[in-house]
Amino acid sequence: MFSDIVKRIEKAKRILIIPHIMPDGDTIGSSIALKLALQKIGKTVCVHNIDPLPDDISFIGTEYIADATDFVASADLAIALDSSDKERLSIPFDDICELDIINIDHHRTNENYGLLNLVLPEASATGEIIYGLIVSMGIEMDAAIAENIYIAIATDTGRFLYSNTHPETMKIAAELLEIGIDIDNLNIQLYQNQPFDKVMFESEAMLSLKLYYEKRLSVLCIEKSLFEKYGLNHTASDGIVERARNIKGVDISFLLKEVDDTVKVSMRSKGDFDVSKIASVFGGGGHKNAAGFVTKHAISEIRKLLIEETGKQYGF
Ligand code: 5GP
Ligand code: MN
Repeated sequence: MFSDIVKRIEKAKRILIIPHIMPDGDTIGSSIALKLALQKIGKTVCVHNIDPLPDDISFIGTEYIADATDFVASADLAIALDSSDKERLSIPFDDICELDIINIDHHRTNENYGLLNLVLPEASATGEIIYGLIVSMGIEMDAAIAENIYIAIATDTGRFLYSNTHPETMKIAAELLEIGIDIDNLNIQLYQNQPFDKVMFESEAMLSLKLYYEKRLSVLCIEKSLFEKYGLNHTASDGIVERARNIKGVDISFLLKEVDDTVKVSMRSKGDFDVSKIASVFGGGGHKNAAGFVTKHAISEIRKLLIEETGKQYGF
């Protein structure tokens, strides 16, 4: 399954790795792990990202990621990671369309926009696929690579809690631990290192919580002014849609937040409630229990449309 991709990578000398916009632990962890691995076999590799890193992974710093716009002209291969469609790529598709693109992802809704597409919806995280790719290329794992794969998998499985956590996920995690990663330190960095302002911001943002349909749907709305009040960027709200979903009796949860002149919608659910189906109606995508989209609608308009669509799909 990996063989065409391995062959194409082996032929390349200068490789551009493309995470998705508004990056998360999976896209960044996978990108850095793959960069470190490919450097070990003599490739020149750049990971492009100009978006702010969310707080949980901000400790990664910018050593391994940069504005790679100038690298594009001299690259001979692009690898997109964790990005279900062209519009999610952190670099405009038109800027890289001359390059061969390998598209590696685990989103069911992936649009197969690459020359080669490795889309495995059963993988818990793109990091899991990157682990398999590195192993199948015969590249020796080291602690730095393993830590980045751990970051990818731990963050995308909600710390090995979500239903995408399969036996294979745990086996890979066990392998990573055996390589000798400092799991205690990593988990402190990821989960016990929240800026005070972010915690206070979260408390205020939670006050916007409203429940609909006999308390089965919870909705949070954050206007730009709240981010400004605390001097934080849009990543400060990471984690709060999960808190709204974790409420007893709630099946589906939405977070609507103003980002620049758009509204970014994050959707979460429990069990068989499939929020990716609701996201698709609005041009987005994702997984059964975590999906999203970006819209030009005003927050009040999109809230109304989303509540109506949820009622329609689930007969609430
Ligand atoms: P989050 O709410 O954390 O930004 O995203 C949760 C999941 O929803 C992501 O893993 C991704 O699969 C999906 N997702 C979020 N935003 C978008 C979007 O704008 N387009 C698509 N296709 N998927 C999205
Ligand atoms: Mn992912």
